[in-house]
Amino acid sequence: MYDYLVVGAGLYGAVFANQMKEKGKSVLVIDKRPNIAGNVYTEKIENINVHKYGAHIFHTNNKEVWNFVNRFAEFNRFTNSPVANYHGELYSLPFNMYTFNKMWGVVTPKEAATKIQEQREQAGITEPKNLEEQAISLVGTDIYEKLIKGYTMKQWGRPCSELPSFIIKRLPVRLTFDNNYFNALYQGIPVGGYTKMVANMLEGIDVELNVDYLKDKEKYDAMASKVIYTGPIDAYFDYKLGTLEYRSVRFDTEILDMPNFQGNAAVNYTDGETPWTRIIEHKWFEFGKDEDGNDIPKTVISREYSAEWKPGDEPYYPVNDEKNSVLYEKYKELAWQEAKVVFGGRLGEYKYYDMDAVIASALAMSRKISK
Ligand code: UDP
Repeated sequence: MYDYLVVGAGLYGAVFANQMKEKGKSVLVIDKRPNIAGNVYTEKIENINVHKYGAHIFHTNNKEVWNFVNRFAEFNRFTNSPVANYHGELYSLPFNMYTFNKMWGVVTPKEAATKIQEQREQAGITEPKNLEEQAISLVGTDIYEKLIKGYTMKQWGRPCSELPSFIIKRLPVRLTFDNNYFNALYQGIPVGGYTKMVANMLEGIDVELNVDYLKDKEKYDAMASKVIYTGPIDAYFDYKLGTLEYRSVRFDTEILDMPNFQGNAAVNYTDGETPWTRIIEHKWFEFGKDEDGNDIPKTVISREYSAEWKPGDEPYYPVNDEKNSVLYEKYKELAWQEAKVVFGGRLGEYKYYDMDAVIASALAMSRKISK
């Protein structure tokens, strides 16, 4: 018998389990996959830590979370500055003075602000109601057309006019030459990879892999007084109210016989025609992998293709639009009735969480539950 059964060895589950163990509780963590770390899982290929389930760059303004993760890993000082490739034209991301200069030839922040203002007025948007209107009112029509429209359509499989505006508000717009993608005080990649960091969190805790909780629910429920479930909330209830929609991602990973393919960790293909959304070159998340190839003569790249999710696929992004939000609220009501179970994390709460927010939420839950 354990005090807690944690279903899912991703960040939420690992943080929660770690905290409960520190409080002297017994914890069993189980996961369907053959490995821990959920979607932050990294695997070494050609001595490069490959982000198997998509690029993860840790960033936060939460000092408590930052101190917490630093107990389990050393972080390098990687700063995310993706490049946008629009039919071979390269632009700096997020939207900053380098982007505006390349797009319009403007030189001063005032000129850039005037240009954006002109385009916003021409579009006649006063209160943005969706992602398209929000984007145009933030950065104008030219940037919307070249850097947002095609990328977003590919990523979400829906036109920008049908998506909620908060998605684009994740990206900073700056009238400075700062091309740091995140407005975060603390940022970096764990040296040695995320898998090692999560393994450190789970040290001394019982972990069972290759285990399908929902198939063997009765057996596992009987093993603990409380269950923390971090899988998809609709799957838990056997989709009885309908399926929540997710976006899934497919990665086409290749080892190339050259030391430097694109010169940057992330290049976004922002046109509507290129089938992939971005290419990640994993070695540039780390330091000391020099581009002459003296250390590592090869490189590993992943082309990322976005896809509509169907049962059986890996869910990545919850689609937090009106329809899905309404359905999620109904599942949440069912969840309240499961006295023994807590639903947490990106899939358990159907929420577009960043890593730091997931950790903060798991820390808060561990405190609440042990009161
Ligand atoms: N986005 C865009 N062009 C880009 C990068 C992002 O239009 O080159 C938009 C797109 O709608 C995307 C949103 O910004 O869904 C959030 O991007 P972010 O990079 O935060 O997504 P994530 O890293 O979570 O995949």
